[in-house]
Amino acid sequence: MGPATAPSFDLVSAQPAWACADFISDLHLQPSQPATFAAWRAYLQATPADAVFILGDLFEAWTGDDAADTPGFAADCAQVLREACAHRPVFLLHGNRDFLVGSALAARCGFTLMHDPAVLAFGGRRYLLSHGDALCLGDAEYLRFRQQVRDPRWITAFLARPLHEREAVARQLRDASQARHAVTTEYADADADLSRQWLAAAGADTLVHGHTHRPADHDLGQGLRRLVLSDWDLEAAPPRAEALRLHADGRFERIALA
Ligand code: MN
Repeated sequence: MGPATAPSFDLVSAQPAWACADFISDLHLQPSQPATFAAWRAYLQATPADAVFILGDLFEAWTGDDAADTPGFAADCAQVLREACAHRPVFLLHGNRDFLVGSALAARCGFTLMHDPAVLAFGGRRYLLSHGDALCLGDAEYLRFRQQVRDPRWITAFLARPLHEREAVARQLRDASQARHAVTTEYADADADLSRQWLAAAGADTLVHGHTHRPADHDLGQGLRRLVLSDWDLEAAPPRAEALRLHADGRFERIALA
């Protein structure tokens, strides 16, 4: 599928009893940032939301579900997800950092893995959910890379390699990405025309996505809008952590968690 074609959509239907659902993304959980991990765990224990949607880049890196088989950070994250899933439905779609989260982790923790993009039907309305990276048409180099690594054959071959090799590749990719960002001042944003196309194809008027780390409410015209989630970084000054809460009546609310 090329980035300019209308994708197909996973459909999630809210249960009638849901009063509100939360959206979070771009926590970039990593062992070197324990405060963000702690805030995420506390949030999942406390949120009144009837469902939590994680729209990608929960993890800074995910090298395969078997990483959670041995004690360590990945296993700690899996445990938090498992406890959260015991209390309410949790849905997750992939970001560019954690697209190797697989059905094994989903089954082990109890969350639902959605394709990107997905449609949520809630309170008589339809909402389009995405990580957002596929909408950033200005980042042609990344989109070529994305096409390569989302190929099921690439994924199968990569996951067949030993874990330590996969971790080394992930470190190389992260270093290369950081080097590229060090010389870049302009970041691609979600393309407005493509966003409108996706919304039309999905029969939705509101797109919710992350990835760009530029939280905002954009008016796309024609009654359409694009709501962008915040990233989380509890060690930044000021710290950042936010959930976007959707009520059954269609009202959105940004919940500050830091
Ligand atoms: Mn991202």
